[in-house]
Amino acid sequence: MSDFHYSNGQLCVENLPLSRIAEAVGTPVYVYSAAALRHNYQIFAGACAHMDALIAYSVKANSNLAVLSLLASLGAGADVVSGGELERAMRAGIAPHKIVFSGVGKSRDEMRKALSAGIYQFNIESAPELVALNDVACAQNTVAAIALRINPDVSAGGHEKISTGKAENKFGVNLDQARDVYKQAHDLPGIEVTGVDMHIGSQIDNLAPFETALLKGLDLVLDLRRDGHDIRTFDMGGGLGIVYNQDEDTLPTVADYMDMVRRHTKGLDLKMIFEPGRAIAGNAGVLLSRVQYVKHGSARNFLILDAAMNDLLRPALYGAYHAIKPVAEPKDHQRETYDIVGPVCETGDTFANHRRLSVMKDGDLVAMLAAGAYGAVQAGQYNTRPLVPEVLVRGGKFDVIRKRPALEDILSLENVPTWL
Ligand SMILES: *Cc1c(COP(=O)(O)O)cnc(C)c1O
Repeated sequence: MSDFHYSNGQLCVENLPLSRIAEAVGTPVYVYSAAALRHNYQIFAGACAHMDALIAYSVKANSNLAVLSLLASLGAGADVVSGGELERAMRAGIAPHKIVFSGVGKSRDEMRKALSAGIYQFNIESAPELVALNDVACAQNTVAAIALRINPDVSAGGHEKISTGKAENKFGVNLDQARDVYKQAHDLPGIEVTGVDMHIGSQIDNLAPFETALLKGLDLVLDLRRDGHDIRTFDMGGGLGIVYNQDEDTLPTVADYMDMVRRHTKGLDLKMIFEPGRAIAGNAGVLLSRVQYVKHGSARNFLILDAAMNDLLRPALYGAYHAIKPVAEPKDHQRETYDIVGPVCETGDTFANHRRLSVMKDGDLVAMLAAGAYGAVQAGQYNTRPLVPEVLVRGGKFDVIRKRPALEDILSLENVPTWL
C-alpha cells in the first residue's frame, strides 16, 4: 500500500499526514486515497485492455459520490443492487449503457427506473423476477436486456457470510434449471436474452473457484447457443480478494485472473463483464480513530477507540481482520499486546484481539488499514453515534466527501406523537 506510508515519523496518505485530517475533521473518519483508487481501477482496465470488456465497479463496496465520480472519470461502469445505487451511479456521471443491475429482490419500481434510464443489462436471479421485469418492460413498451445469474455450485469466499455460489445460497438459478428459465425468458415479449451472469463470493484468494465456475458457465453458453439463444455477454461478477493480513494472505494478481479468463474465452465472441468492488476500493482507504483510553485490566490490556462496530462492521460481522497501525511511527522496539475495542455496548464491538502494537497512550491515533470497501457503506448510527465522515486525499490536500451529521440532523428525522 504505497499510498499509505510513514514519512517523517507520521503515517501519511499520499503526501498528507493523517494527523492533519484528524485535527481538521475529527475522528473517527474514513480516509481514501485518490491515487490508490485510480491505480486499482487502472490495473483492471490494463489487464483487460485487449478484451471486449466492461468493468462495472460494484457500487456497494464504496458508494460515495466522489469515489464514483473519480471512477466514472476513468471510464468505469457500475454494478448496482438498488434504485438508490443506480441514482448514485448516474449522478456520478457513469453512463447508463455501462450499468448492470444485480440483486435478488429488485422491486418493480426499481425496474421501471432502470429501464427508463436505459441501463445495459439486468442480472436476473429467479423466474418470478423475470416475469415481473417482463410486465414492467411491456407496460413501458420496451424490452429489457437480461442475463440470468446462474449458481454454479462452487465453494468460494473467505467467510460463509460472503460465499454466494453454493446451491444452498439464495443467489441465482441452479445450473440444472437454467436452460428452462432461459427458454421461459425467450418466450417473454418484454425480455431480450443477452448473456450469462455469475458472482460466486467475495474475498476469494485463489483462482480455482473462478475457473471452475467459469468453465461451468461457458458450457452453459454453448448449450444455450445450441438452444438458439443469442448469448453475447458473460458477467464474471466480482469477488477477487485483497491483502488484509500481510503475514498470511497471498492472492492472485488481477493479471493472472484476466489471463485465466482470456485463455478460456478466446474465440467465443463474448463481451466480458467484471464487477470488482473490494479489489478497487478496499486498500484505498483507512479508518482513522483516536485512542480514548488505555485500560490495563487484570487479564488484558484494552485500547478503547472512538471508532466502533457501527463505523466499521466487518470485524463484528465476519470476524474480519484489519491491520491496525499507530499514526505516530514507532520509535523503539517496545511492544504491548492489546485487545482493540470500540465504545459500543456490545462485546462484539471488538476490532482485534491480542494485537502487538507499540506502547500506546490516551489520545494517540491509529489507522485501520484496507477499510475502503464495505466500511463506510455499512456504517450505522447505533448508540446514536453520528454516521462516520469520509475524506478523499489527493496529493497533499483533502476534501470532506461526506460530512459528519450533527446530532440535530439525526434527531430531526424523528417525531414524538402529539398525544405524548
Ligand atoms: C458484492 C458484489 C460484487 C462485488 O464483490 P467484491 O467481492 O467486492 O468484488 C459484485 N457483484 C455482485 C452481484 C455483488 O453482489
